[in-house]
Amino acid sequence: MLQIRPIPAFEDNYIWLLSEPPGQTCVVVDPGDADPVLETLSREGLQLAAVLVTHHHGDHVGGLAELRDACPDLRIYGPKDPRIRHLTDPVVEGDWIQPPGLASRFRTLELPGHTSSHIGFLGDGCLFCGDTLFAAGCGRVFDGTFEQLADSLRRIADLDPETLCYCAHEYTLANLGFARWVEPDSPTLAQREQDARQTRSQGLPTVPSRLALELMTNPFLRTGEPGVKAAAERFAGRPLQGHGEVFTALRRWKDTRYD
Ligand SMILES: [Zn+2]
Repeated sequence: MLQIRPIPAFEDNYIWLLSEPPGQTCVVVDPGDADPVLETLSREGLQLAAVLVTHHHGDHVGGLAELRDACPDLRIYGPKDPRIRHLTDPVVEGDWIQPPGLASRFRTLELPGHTSSHIGFLGDGCLFCGDTLFAAGCGRVFDGTFEQLADSLRRIADLDPETLCYCAHEYTLANLGFARWVEPDSPTLAQREQDARQTRSQGLPTVPSRLALELMTNPFLRTGEPGVKAAAERFAGRPLQGHGEVFTALRRWKDTRYD
């Protein structure tokens, strides 16, 4: 049975650790820093067999060289992108991978927008979505486009609503603050914010979140809702057509207000 736990890194990153006890091998996702990973391996007597990488940003790949040197035969899966070094297994849309040491298999989804080559890994009812979808929010647009990110989020919205979304940052409370600007009258959103505050006050992660909850509360997955569209149009100061335009207005609105 797959177990997934976060290894906190930097200010607010989560490096996800996957293992199948009683096995001693494990897999990590987006190790921006090798130190907390190596500490966990040593403390728990685990061997790192594989790494999954979603995109090229330093806080997701910064630990790769050190982990490769410390862990013999390490497999490193990630998107074909010259900005990501040390990959042993470049993957593209539709590729299935079975990391060594795990029975679980994962399918590669290309999810550009935050960056032009961002991917996700979907398997065992879990989506490792990097900086594409966040709990109650989404990533900023760096070298991808707003249209790409809008399409990638719509792809995620069409997955099984029971999917657990493992994003790479603890941004949930700030994201919920923005979501409440967009949908101030939503009782589901108010409840989620209350729950998230309580979780954070206990020092616990709010991630993963279930896609069904995201579909009810994440404005970037709700661009087809009349209230969300109306709020985006108030920000844009003009009528908006289609998901892409509504998404772009929401993302620009959040860029002006929050991190
Ligand atoms: Zn990023």
